[in-house]
Amino acid sequence: MLLTLTTTYQPATDLGYLLRKNPARPQSFELSFGKAHVFYPEASHERCTVALLVEVDPVGLVRNRRGPSGEGGALEQYVNDRPYAASSFLSVAIAEVFGTALSGNCKERPELATLAIPLQVTFSALPCRGGEPFLGKLFAPLGYQVTATRLPLDEQFPEWGESAYFRVELTATLPLQQLLSHLYVLVPVLDNDKHYWVGDDEVRKLLHHGEGWLAAHPEREAIARRYLKHRRSLVDDAIAQLAEEGDPDPELAAETNAQEEAAVESKISLNEQRLGSVFAALKGSHAVRVLDLGCGEGRLLQLLLKDKQFAEIVGLDVSHRALEIAQDRLHYDRLPALQKKRLRLLHGSLIYRDQRLAGFEAAAVVEVIEHLDPPRLAAFERVLFEFARPGTIVVTTPNREYNVNWETLPAGQFRHRDHRFEWTRPEFQGWANGVAARFGYSVRFLSVGPEDPAVGPPTQMAMFNRHPK
Ligand code: SAH
Repeated sequence: MLLTLTTTYQPATDLGYLLRKNPARPQSFELSFGKAHVFYPEASHERCTVALLVEVDPVGLVRNRRGPSGEGGALEQYVNDRPYAASSFLSVAIAEVFGTALSGNCKERPELATLAIPLQVTFSALPCRGGEPFLGKLFAPLGYQVTATRLPLDEQFPEWGESAYFRVELTATLPLQQLLSHLYVLVPVLDNDKHYWVGDDEVRKLLHHGEGWLAAHPEREAIARRYLKHRRSLVDDAIAQLAEEGDPDPELAAETNAQEEAAVESKISLNEQRLGSVFAALKGSHAVRVLDLGCGEGRLLQLLLKDKQFAEIVGLDVSHRALEIAQDRLHYDRLPALQKKRLRLLHGSLIYRDQRLAGFEAAAVVEVIEHLDPPRLAAFERVLFEFARPGTIVVTTPNREYNVNWETLPAGQFRHRDHRFEWTRPEFQGWANGVAARFGYSVRFLSVGPEDPAVGPPTQMAMFNRHPK
């Protein structure tokens, strides 16, 4: 399958810097399913075209059990459209061969990476299940001009009629990174047949590469359905997360909500007391590698970074915006190399199993569980207590009983609009005891903030310790 990408931005040969591929030097890459070749059919000051040729090896695929699982039986495994048609193999090739450009980085021309430049993409054969109208529905809302020519099934036998494949040209003016992320997501969507098993991680990939455009796309649901190969539970999750992103200015709403909560709790600077308690618990556990799950804007990370005991610190959050703020707060870009090596910020969700969370001694989950939908709690429990399984886990959450003490909080309301629930002490302890018993941990309860004789402290904290093997 062949993809070409042309720009008339001048000097056009800067495309080589953006893609980190020298126009003068053809290159080949080994991929798990075949080979990719990159070369420039034209490279002048006015106009530069790069070609990505992907060779899929269907026999190798069968041996590695990655072949199509369609209904065609044995023959279809060997004789199929995969070598010729653009598909999820092309997405993988884009990620492998043009990974830097796909992530929006460009060392030599950083300003160019974010600049909208005139780009034209040509696919030699793009399968469009759903036909030409669907192609337009996918690309037109993103600002592309679309030209599609349907290819005949076989040029020598016109009476056989038309195929499901199109020669497609897309033209738009936009940053290259955006174009590549559009292709990464939408080519497999058009093909509607992914070559590999679609697991939870695919939701993260979809949201990651769809960031900034998918949530507002009129076809976002169809895109999620096809991208995730119609797996209901994954599709539902993706659509729910996209819906949250697509709400009018969610970032602003999140900030207002956070300010409201801060105002409610400000009297005793509960926030600081909470961080202090969690920090002390982590320090006391003698952990060296620690996780801050739902790290938000990075206040706890900042404390951890100041203490040399913590050699590996990882913050994870589902909100890109929160991670950006954390990155600023921690002056991540300007940290000395040694400090930088200790800290990592990850984008991810606590309701999906995540390999990156394995191998840590302690984890903090500070004021996060009340943001999870109750039906998702069971998934979260497994992700943390079964798969990540650190020796020490510190969880804090509001104590609902204490809310009567907040003057500014209308009766019956939660402290934060995004809280899905707030628990009483018996509710929290009931949950924590159950989790501890199910996953082989012991648990102790601590109070954070001034303890009210009748209703307890404003924040409740549980410290879990894994039973020795
Ligand atoms: N721990 C921080 C932030 C608490 S606010 C502090 O104490 O300051 C709750 C945080 O949980 C938010 O940043 C929110 O984006 C994050 N969050 C909510 N649901 C999440 C999920 N499923 N996975 C990861 N983070 C999540």
